[in-house]
Amino acid sequence: MEITDFYLIDEGRLKEILERYNPRKILVQLPEGLKHFYPSILTHIKNLLSRRNVIIDLDASPIFGSCLMDTSITSHYDIVLHFGHEEYPYWKAPKNIFFIKLISKNNISDDTLNRFIKFALDHHLIKLALYGTAQHPLESIGERLVDAGLEIVNDIKRGTIFGCWFSDLIETVKMADGVIVVSGGDFHPLGVGLYLNNSKPIISLDPYTDTFRHFNNLVYGVLKKRYYKILKASEAHAWMILAGVQGQFRPAIVEKLKQEIEERGDEYFIAHSAYVTRETLGNIDNNKIDAFIITSCPRLPIDDLSDFYKPVLTPGEAFMVFNNILQRYLYPW
Ligand code: SF4
Repeated sequence: MEITDFYLIDEGRLKEILERYNPRKILVQLPEGLKHFYPSILTHIKNLLSRRNVIIDLDASPIFGSCLMDTSITSHYDIVLHFGHEEYPYWKAPKNIFFIKLISKNNISDDTLNRFIKFALDHHLIKLALYGTAQHPLESIGERLVDAGLEIVNDIKRGTIFGCWFSDLIETVKMADGVIVVSGGDFHPLGVGLYLNNSKPIISLDPYTDTFRHFNNLVYGVLKKRYYKILKASEAHAWMILAGVQGQFRPAIVEKLKQEIEERGDEYFIAHSAYVTRETLGNIDNNKIDAFIITSCPRLPIDDLSDFYKPVLTPGEAFMVFNNILQRYLYPW
């Protein structure tokens, strides 16, 4: 199977980079779900090279986003071609990393869009904020919605969102009756729901399943679980702050958490890890730790560690505890 069966590669940018840097050693980075396509990507790159005997290797380390990569590997290459993500807004990647767009060939069908339009009209969702992930262009969907009498309140050129960064949504949502998130799976619409405190209707348009889904019930369920964790953590007096690396190192947030904990008269420990799993927490846990705060990826406590036997909070949740402000859920920090 070829990657081009499913994605359009930003060929112009790829060509330009290869011509400009004429590299001898190239490292390829692909998102987790696309790594198995590497033979077809390598052939694709080879066909664009003017020089022969170029080394092209795959980075097999986890690539969950453009926020985290192993620079002890990337620094050995002339250029690193990172496919499928845009640059993480909170981090400037090393100069030899180049982001190449992959545009999904999966589209929302006319039938699904028509059903969504009827749903939107029936539920008075007329003014819509339209956002999505880097792989899914928003233009044609936006045009179709406008043609049907709906209004898009944001500039869709700035419509790309990440799991913890939502472009200008906090401003545009004030004008919107609801938010549409074009992406595969639950990850991004759930992030939007947490970020907005479930305050507006959130609809996902999923090009992989060709469906639309109302997301507020799912967000509500997750919020209920998070509030339970927050309340449990409010009894803690000893905290483990687990900090990340690269784009997931957030020194200002770590400092602020330390200050808050000191002001409470509580104790804290700090640990660093590029990747955090249940095993990571299990290995460093002991009877002197009451609760964990993960400052690297704010989705880890919510998606991966929500059933850990001690409370594991995001920075936003920890600030809710320290400032005793529970009325509004704070995501991500
Ligand atoms: S949600 Fe996590 S993986 Fe996604 S961009 Fe943020 S820190 Fe990176």
